[in-house]
Amino acid sequence: MAQAKRITPRAQDYSEWYNDVIMQAELADYSPVRGCMVIRPHGYMLWELMQRALDDMFKATGHKNAYFPLFIPMSFLAKEAQHVEGFAKEVALVTHTRLRATGKPGAQAIEVDPDSKLEEPLVVRPTSETIIYAMFSKWIQSYRDLPLLLNQWCNVVRWELRTRLFLRTTEFLWQEGHTAHATEAEAETEARQMLGIYRKFQEEWMAMPVITGRKTESERFAGALRTFAVEALMQDNKALQAGTAHNLGQNFAKAFNVQYQTPAGGLEYVWNTSWGVTTRMIGGLIMTHSDDNGLICPPRLAPIQVVIVPIWKSDEEYSQVSAVGLRVKTELEKAGIRVELDLRDSLKPGAKYFEWEAKGVPLRLEVGPRDVAAKQMMGARRIGGKAPVMLEDIAPRVAAALAEIQAQLFKSAKDRREAHSIRGVTKAQFIDLMKGEGGFAFGGFCGSAKCEAEIKQATAATIRVLPDAEFQSPEVPKLCMWCGSPSIAEAVWAQAY
Ligand SMILES: [Zn+2]
Repeated sequence: MAQAKRITPRAQDYSEWYNDVIMQAELADYSPVRGCMVIRPHGYMLWELMQRALDDMFKATGHKNAYFPLFIPMSFLAKEAQHVEGFAKEVALVTHTRLRATGKPGAQAIEVDPDSKLEEPLVVRPTSETIIYAMFSKWIQSYRDLPLLLNQWCNVVRWELRTRLFLRTTEFLWQEGHTAHATEAEAETEARQMLGIYRKFQEEWMAMPVITGRKTESERFAGALRTFAVEALMQDNKALQAGTAHNLGQNFAKAFNVQYQTPAGGLEYVWNTSWGVTTRMIGGLIMTHSDDNGLICPPRLAPIQVVIVPIWKSDEEYSQVSAVGLRVKTELEKAGIRVELDLRDSLKPGAKYFEWEAKGVPLRLEVGPRDVAAKQMMGARRIGGKAPVMLEDIAPRVAAALAEIQAQLFKSAKDRREAHSIRGVTKAQFIDLMKGEGGFAFGGFCGSAKCEAEIKQATAATIRVLPDAEFQSPEVPKLCMWCGSPSIAEAVWAQAY
């Protein structure tokens, strides 16, 4: 067991703090391959819980899971011009298929067999639009085959130069939904629906409030007609793009010849959407809630929701407290609560508290001989607050406490976001904000890519989204906050991960 290293305080070094939280919670570790990470069991369980919740929502809206190959013929990427340009700089290629022994010692004992060179290199998927739509062209013939609603859970590779655990890694896990529809309106509805599902998941499960909206031309996905995104504000006031949904128009349908026969007998190209969220969400969860003692995990996604820590001195006390601990564990498990009973005698209670706090367990139940006599346990919440919990009907009491913690986490994250959002921002305020503490800046935007680039150059801030009506300011901005030309839409700027 790694011994309790201190976690760097956020105020001292936010980025070190972030890494320390991950290492102490045993969510992930650095791998021998630079830029790649190992997801450890505690982190993987968190991912599995995320997957389960999202997968249920995808299936409830008519999507089915499928699996497509990891390798994509290089020529496929070239078929959609914008798309290839978007990914060309970060793809991993397979060019050979064999190694051979050289008879030399050490690291030189093997080399690439030049005779095994592939005629056409294979791209390790950075995303799967091309290979999936190549298959769609075989499977879709008539309007009766539409809509086709698929999703796949898989890994993808994007050759990133600067990586951060969970936030940006060369290989990451995600889901990518891919759909085909008869009309543009249906594709738009689908992209919007999936954005809504991401928002629901992130707010109700991750307790992470998000702003939804549309990306500008310069920020949209390579090959898409329109990109929609969910954006969250982290504790250091930088934005995190937490998911995207694209209306791909007919771009890929034309490149891969995905056509369907209309009821009238004509031939039309389909309209596609794609949408995805990744293991990056785990980084978002960490940076939304955690503190200087380590991970804070919202109860709905906590791999361990409750830990019972019995406290004893004598053998007699041990048999008392462990019996009660075991009984409560069984009761909580029956109620569907993920619970751990910590009976290790190698650690003192204080060290156990420290460890479970760092791992983000929302509720700790301490039970000593005096608690047994009083028919109670002492409940300590990870977000603060201690109160006795009666043993009678303990499962519903614990469930209610977990629901309260979940709600409190969402509320404080939302309050924090609102406290760091400025509306009707002026150019001077904007510059100050981006030089200073950061946050979401709402202001008018003229629509020009030149203006956008200038702002990025000067302040490192980008337009996160043109927000949906719900998030727009009551007063419509009239002028571009940067250049003073007439505004075409309100925009939300921030520096981002
Ligand atoms: Zn402007």
